[in-house]
Amino acid sequence: MRLSKIRLAGFKSFVDPVTLNLPSNLVGILGPNGCGKSNTIDAVRWVMGESSARNLRGQAMEDVIFNGSSARKPVGLASVELVFDNTAAQLAGPYASYAEIAIKRQVGRDGSSKFFLNGSRCRRRDITDLFLGTGLGSRSYAIIEQGMIARLIEAKPEELRASLEEAAGISRYKERRRETETR
Ligand code: ATP
Ligand code: MG
Repeated sequence: MRLSKIRLAGFKSFVDPVTLNLPSNLVGILGPNGCGKSNTIDAVRWVMGESSARNLRGQAMEDVIFNGSSARKPVGLASVELVFDNTAAQLAGPYASYAEIAIKRQVGRDGSSKFFLNGSRCRRRDITDLFLGTGLGSRSYAIIEQGMIARLIEAKPEELRASLEEAAGISRYKERRRETETR
């Protein structure tokens, strides 16, 4: 599975609708300070269900909505869509046969989020479930950010274990067991 497109509108500095087409050999994003590199990564984490505004470098969830500039008024809605190429059918479950998987999240000024999976409204959980155990996801190690290597080196044994379990693909089953036991 490969992230092939990011569509943004009203998200942080990306006020006008834009589609970023990602080549298959992408290894990094570079550009001048403040051009939106980190905002792009925030967008990816956000769609995958990140629920902590602090992890997206904001105070509240509404902070992801474009809040105006000297030349532009603020907007009322932020929307981000990630398109994954699944032609290698690496995704298990009901979506294995889809060549393309699109996940979208929108948030308005009232702070309420809406999630969509291939155009249909879904729950946040459907999105997080989709990526559990794949190495992707809002807190995944597929995106290496500043400070992450240091955090891994300094991680407590149980935190390190959680990372290894995600890499080994068993976190999905542990999550299922936890749910069954707490029911
Ligand atoms: P650096 O090289 O310094 O890390 P960067 O390319 O990672 O820069 P970002 O952090 O992605 O930069 O972008 C910062 C810019 O995004 C700032 O100009 C900031 O004002 C703008 N920005 C962040 N949130 C919003 C928002 N909600 N509305 C409008 N602009 C925003
Ligand atoms: Mg940055």
